[in-house]
Amino acid sequence: MNKHIIYKKINDFIYFIWLIILILISTTTTYFYNINKKSQIEFFNKSLKNIYLHKFIKNITSELKPRYINTIHVVKQGDTYESIINNLKVSEKEKKLFLKTVAKKKKLKVLKLNQKISFKIDRRGNEKILEFKIEIDNKNEIFFSRSQNNKIFNSTTIEKNLDKTIAYKETVITSSLYNSAIELGIKANIIIDFARLYGFQVDFQRDVWKNDSFQIIYEEFKNEKGTTVDTGDIIYANLNLQNNDLNLYKFEYEKGKIDYFDENGKSVRKTLMKTPINGARLSSSFGKRKHPILGFNKIHTGTDFAAPKGTPIMASGDGVIVKSRWCGGGGNCIKIKHNSVYQTVYAHLSKFGRNIKKGVRVKQGQIIGYVGSTGLSTGPHLHYEVIENGRKINSQKLKLPSGKILKGKSRKLFEVNKIKIDVLKSELISKIN
Ligand SMILES: [Zn+2]
Repeated sequence: MNKHIIYKKINDFIYFIWLIILILISTTTTYFYNINKKSQIEFFNKSLKNIYLHKFIKNITSELKPRYINTIHVVKQGDTYESIINNLKVSEKEKKLFLKTVAKKKKLKVLKLNQKISFKIDRRGNEKILEFKIEIDNKNEIFFSRSQNNKIFNSTTIEKNLDKTIAYKETVITSSLYNSAIELGIKANIIIDFARLYGFQVDFQRDVWKNDSFQIIYEEFKNEKGTTVDTGDIIYANLNLQNNDLNLYKFEYEKGKIDYFDENGKSVRKTLMKTPINGARLSSSFGKRKHPILGFNKIHTGTDFAAPKGTPIMASGDGVIVKSRWCGGGGNCIKIKHNSVYQTVYAHLSKFGRNIKKGVRVKQGQIIGYVGSTGLSTGPHLHYEVIENGRKINSQKLKLPSGKILKGKSRKLFEVNKIKIDVLKSELISKIN
């Protein structure tokens, strides 16, 4: 082979060689680039593990806490101004100033249950109270703000900025009336009022079935943020049980006297309640049965409602307490005389209601005691008896005369009021549909 031929061959391959060189260059550069990237990640990870950096990050986040904190305290049993202020992270000097300020106000002498006290605290430097508010009743509160010289609090009584709105809720009862109502966002005290109103004619354990329904119109009080802070009266309610409507209309039948009437102007209030307890299960009815403890057949002279210990028990009607003490097998028991015909007995109570003593007058629906298992009892329940002319009768079959029926002028006023409520109802319904 001569030189000429070799050159020619190389010339033929020259493009191929260039191509190989290019490929080699690009693969080595990406290789080194990757190594570099890996080491960068490693460096970053190492830095993160660095304790000083950790502290630094922590510091940055902790600095982001708000300067002012607002806290609300709802007064519980046994609270004092001292115990309330001691829960706040402020200096002793601040605590003393708060107590001194409060002590000067006569209206604030007694703390009331569920009373709201709110504080605004400045956390810069030595934490101090900038302002605080104390509720005095449903509508008013006293507002205290720090004076210019920081040494005292100036106070003013202000009306709470509450808007009264009308709420309308309706639903088909799927699980229980209580659960269905809670799911709709109805406040617990409205549910209790609702149950109390229907307590005269409905046995919630046995008369309410799945797919029954209810409608309710009631007052709500909202603050500037639109959150419900309080509830007012029920204006209208309907409980539809197996396609029967039980309508209730709120009506002021005399100046300052409010009651609930059906569409015919008949008060729903009866002399006695069928079930003087909410949320209970009827566990043993009136009649012959084998006594769970004594073991022999004995007539059960009352109705048992199983309920958790501590469930409030209501006076089934207006009357006078004739017995409120230990009575052997019945444990702690109460007897109320309602009139010359009716008396009621409540047994196995865990404790008596406040001031429930012999000779005291009670109102229908007033809490007289709490469910327990005292005396001869197998578990927490209320044993409820109705005595008619000295004879124990079945409370669940009790046919009691209904309350007042509106007549004459008040009946006419009721009819006008009823139409107004019906119009309101259809307006509220059209709003949600
Ligand atoms: Zn019993």
